[in-house]
Amino acid sequence: MSALMKAAVSRSPASLASYLYRNIHVAASGATSKDASVTTNMTKAYTVIDHKHDALVIGAGGAGLRAAFGLVQEGFKTAVVTKLFPTRSHTVAAQGGINAALGNMEEDSWLWHMYDTVKGSDWLGDQDAIHYMTKEAPHAVIELDNYGMPFSRTPEGKIYQRAFGGQSLKFGKGGQAHRCCAVADRTGHSLLHTLYGQSLRYDCEYFIEYFALDLLMEDGVCKGCIAINLEDGTLHRFQAKNTILATGGTGRSYFSCTSAHTCTGDGTAMAARAGLQNEDMEFVQFHPTGIYGAGCLMTEGCRGEGGFLVNSKGERFMERYAPVAKDLASRDVVSRAMTVEIMEGRGCGPEKDHVHLQLHHLPPEQLKQRLPGISETAMIFAGVDVTKEPIPVLPTVHYNMGGTPTNFRGEVITHRGGADRVVAGLLAAGEASCASVHGANRLGANSLLDIVVFGRACALTVADTARPGDPQPPLAPTTGEASIANLDSIRYANGSISTADLRLRMQKCMQKNAAVFRQKSTLEEGT
Ligand SMILES: Cc1cc2nc3c(=O)[nH]c(=O)nc-3n(C[C@H](O)[C@H](O)[C@H](O)COP(=O)(O)OP(=O)(O)OC[C@H]3O[C@@H](n4cnc5c(N)ncnc54)[C@H](O)[C@@H]3O)c2cc1C
Repeated sequence: MSALMKAAVSRSPASLASYLYRNIHVAASGATSKDASVTTNMTKAYTVIDHKHDALVIGAGGAGLRAAFGLVQEGFKTAVVTKLFPTRSHTVAAQGGINAALGNMEEDSWLWHMYDTVKGSDWLGDQDAIHYMTKEAPHAVIELDNYGMPFSRTPEGKIYQRAFGGQSLKFGKGGQAHRCCAVADRTGHSLLHTLYGQSLRYDCEYFIEYFALDLLMEDGVCKGCIAINLEDGTLHRFQAKNTILATGGTGRSYFSCTSAHTCTGDGTAMAARAGLQNEDMEFVQFHPTGIYGAGCLMTEGCRGEGGFLVNSKGERFMERYAPVAKDLASRDVVSRAMTVEIMEGRGCGPEKDHVHLQLHHLPPEQLKQRLPGISETAMIFAGVDVTKEPIPVLPTVHYNMGGTPTNFRGEVITHRGGADRVVAGLLAAGEASCASVHGANRLGANSLLDIVVFGRACALTVADTARPGDPQPPLAPTTGEASIANLDSIRYANGSISTADLRLRMQKCMQKNAAVFRQKSTLEEGT
């Protein structure tokens, strides 16, 4: 019997759960890491614990995990700092799927996928990065399949691929493509658990429920991050030759969004505080089908499986706005069309402020097999039985195309002295980053692809530019001091507005003044 179990059996059942949680948590978090050293000269008030690794990953969503085990595979001693337990990251909520031109349902080509992505980005994406991502996509999906991701299958046993918005064949001339590889409507869940399982095969050191406060910068070079352990309030400096920022999106800057409550753009803010630029922050994607009132997502896969939108007159209005793609036009087109219908008085419900997503014409067997999670969510959050009645939906904030700018190798770029320069020691991947593969509008199912392709790219770039065990001079004793002062100024502030109230006001302001249509007058009102 292990020491942990021996100590546990002597406890009452009531205290056992919390005792086990605490101890397993501490063991898993690596808080007792043999590599930690204590710095006491940091500030008068605090002791700061120092850690040193070859590489540091901030965030354990799909992007962070893919980067982390890629790094350990290459022999780098790697720390992963995450405010959530890895499998609670927002990636777990992705429903629809991941795009790759596997050609399992019909002939397909990554060049057609590239064309759709360039077009879908409103021609504002970086074509080198899009080239890299769409060409790597089939390899990335087959890699996930080999790691054990339980993809839905065709009758012949191939990976099942569904129709998704904005995906076409033959450079837009061959009709709708079936390119989105899915695990029923729980693709992100399977992807995240598969990646976490892989990362445990290697020796990644996890620091779970550690909240990263700031990047540690010395002379423009990133040297790691400073974090607070949420369990005991201790402060930690994580030093690394290469740091990968993978902290996810900023959906919660709006009042109504499909993202988890944890998608608060911490990495984006850390980059800004470090004096780096963020790119394309105005490119916020609204998903057409968030449940009215709750914001929860009804995947585009609903429409991919044959569902459609109707207004209060029962019209399939998308036929008017996008005669060819109809309900599977790209998300910006559908969101705008829904908003116009509502603004012109054809919305549903007593306040005419939403439209309906209809699924009940589809066979119940298909709903059960392909959209089980959706049926459950619609019942819980809208009280709707999808086999009998439509779901009330509204465009809801869903994805941030902008973030910390990178090249297609994942290296963070800054603009200094009239030129783009790589920030030494800092890479970024996933929704926190902006390799600009999505330009002004991400196509559905291109983001799970983005996180695995660019998470892996970060690991490959580090392997190209560094060696395990490369020497790192010690951090200056004062590095990170300003972050602690900043933290204290916030947590001991005694102003008249609570943080929660202030945040709510800002979220409502964004929702009202920077939503689907942004006009000079609304933007000015919001500032
Ligand atoms: C409901 C929903 C459905 C979606 N469906 C699809 C889909 O079907 N297909 C598709 O391609 N895309 C989909 N997306 C988008 C896609 O899921 C996300 O863009 C992607 O999963 C983001 O992954 P990530 O690794 O960048 O971030 P996340 O998965 O959000 O992970 C962020 C990580 O950063 C950590 N973190 C954040 N801040 C800190 C901090 N201060 N300190 C320490 N750690 C921190 C968190 O602990 C977490 O581990 C969907 C998104 C949503 C919201």
